[in-house]
Amino acid sequence: MLNRRGMLTALVAAALGSRAVTAPAAPTAGAGAKRRLPWRNWSGSQQCLPAARVAPASVAELQELLAGGSGVVRAVGAGHSFTPLVPTDGTIVSLSRLSGLLDHDAESMQATLWAGSRLGDIGAPLEQVGQALVNMPDIDEQTLAGCFATATHGTGTGIGCMSTFIEGLQLVDARGQLVDCDRQRNAELFDAARVSLGTLGIITRVRLRNVAPYRLRRETVWREFDEILAIAESEADKHRNFEFYYVPFSGMGFTDTHDITTEAVSTTDKLDGNEGARDLQLARDWLERSPRLRALVLGTYMKTLSDEVTVENSWKNYASERNVRFNEMEYHLPRENGLQALREVRTALEKQHPEVFFPIEVRFVKGDDIWLSPFYQRDCCSIAVHRFFDEDYRPYFKTIEPIFRKYQGRPHWGKLNTLQQQDFRSLYPRWDDFVEVRRQMDPQGRFLNAYLKGLFGATGGKA
Ligand SMILES: Cc1cc2nc3c(=O)[nH]c(=O)nc-3n(C[C@H](O)[C@H](O)[C@H](O)COP(=O)(O)OP(=O)(O)OC[C@H]3O[C@@H](n4cnc5c(N)ncnc54)[C@H](O)[C@@H]3O)c2cc1C
Repeated sequence: MLNRRGMLTALVAAALGSRAVTAPAAPTAGAGAKRRLPWRNWSGSQQCLPAARVAPASVAELQELLAGGSGVVRAVGAGHSFTPLVPTDGTIVSLSRLSGLLDHDAESMQATLWAGSRLGDIGAPLEQVGQALVNMPDIDEQTLAGCFATATHGTGTGIGCMSTFIEGLQLVDARGQLVDCDRQRNAELFDAARVSLGTLGIITRVRLRNVAPYRLRRETVWREFDEILAIAESEADKHRNFEFYYVPFSGMGFTDTHDITTEAVSTTDKLDGNEGARDLQLARDWLERSPRLRALVLGTYMKTLSDEVTVENSWKNYASERNVRFNEMEYHLPRENGLQALREVRTALEKQHPEVFFPIEVRFVKGDDIWLSPFYQRDCCSIAVHRFFDEDYRPYFKTIEPIFRKYQGRPHWGKLNTLQQQDFRSLYPRWDDFVEVRRQMDPQGRFLNAYLKGLFGATGGKA
C-alpha cells in the first residue's frame, strides 16, 4: 500500500506523464542559519548583534541591571515573534532562569508563575496542583511573558487571548523598581501591561486565572472549501475551540475542533503537519505552472486523507510541533468581516501567487478590554498567511495586507505587517493612554529599540 508521500508523488508523476518523480532536494538551511550572529528569531527574519545578553538568576539581579545601566534593554522570550520587537545593539535580557510555578490558590483557581516559563513546561506542574490554562496557542514553545506581550491567542469564540487570563503581574521598571499591578492596584498600568510589547518594564511574574484540569477531544476533518465556508460560523459557535485551514490551489481544507470530554486518552493515525508542508512544497515545485493540474492532484490527494481524532489532557492537545520554518502575517478582523475577507484573500493568492504553498489559517477570538489588545472591544476572526522562511514573503504579504486593512483588521503584534505609528493610533482607541503610561514607566526610552521608537517614541503620534 502506498504511504501518503508515495501517494502524492505517484499523483504528481501521473499528472506530469512521467514514470518516476524524484523529490527536489530539501532546502539547505537558509543564509540566515549560516550567519554567525549572536541573536536571531525563530524564522530568521530578525537578527542583531547586541552588546550584551544576560539571563539574571534572581529578580534582585534584574533590578540591579536596570538600576545600574543607561542603554537600551530589550526582553526576549523564546524569540518566536516575527516583528522586530527584540533586536537591539544594547542589552537583551532573558528570563530563562526565572521559570516555573511559584504559588497557587485552589479556591480562586489562580496560580502565580515566573514570567520566563515556557508554555510547554507549565502544563504538568499546573495539573499537579489541580489547575490548567484556559486555552493555548498552536505551539507551546513561547514564554508566558512573550505571549502576553503580543496578545498571543488560541481559538474559540468564547475565549479571549492569553492576556485575558492575567489577574495580576509584577514588573521591574526602567529605574529597577519593582511594581505590582492588578485591577485594584495601579489599575491603569494593569490595563496597559497585559499587552505591552515589553515596553513598560520587564515582567517577572504573573498571576493567572486558571480552570480545573480538563481533557479535550480534538477532531480534524478534511472538507471542500465551499463546505467549510458554509459551516464555519455555526461550527465556531458550536465548539469550544474551532479553527480551519485552506490549502491554496486545492479547493480543500480541514476543520479542527476541540471539545471537553471524559473519554479515555487515545489517538488515531495522524498526518504529520511538517511532512504535510513539505508535500505541499513538492506539489508547488512540480506543478506551479499548471494550476489546474495542481488543483487536481492536491484535491485528489486530500480526498484520500482520513479524519483524525485525538483525546488528551488539554495541555498536550493544543500545540503541534512546527519544524518547517516560515514567516507569517496575521490580522485580527471584526468577526463579521472575516469570511468575506478570506474569500478575497483566496482569490488574490490563487490569481497572483502560484509560488505560495502554505495553508491559510483561520481562528476566532473573543473581544476584551486590554488597551493594546488587537481584540480590544471586538470579537475577531483572525486570518494568517505564511511563506516558507527561505523565500521572500514580501510580494505575497503586500498583496494580502490591503485586504486585511480594508476590512478593519489589526495586525498581530508579533507577526509581520507594515503599519506605522499613525496607523496603529487610529486603530486603537486607548493608544494615547498607553503612550502616557509608557512615558511614566520609562521616561528615558530604555525599553525602546529602533522599531518601537518609531511606534511609541516622541509623542507616540499625538500632535
Ligand atoms: C511557529 C510559531 C507558531 C505561533 N503560533 C501562534 C499562535 O498560535 N497564536 C498566536 O497568537 N501567536 C503565535 N505565534 C506568535 C508568538 O506566539 C508570539 O510572537 C509570541 O510573542 C512569542 O513569544 P516568545 O516567548 O517567543 O517571545 P519573543 O518573541 O521573544 O518576544 C515577544 C515580546 O515579548 C517581550 N517579552 C519577552 N519577555 C518579556 C518579559 N519578561 N517582560 C516584558 N516583555 C517581555 C519581548 O520584549 C517582545 O516584545 C507563533 C509563532 C511561531 C514562530
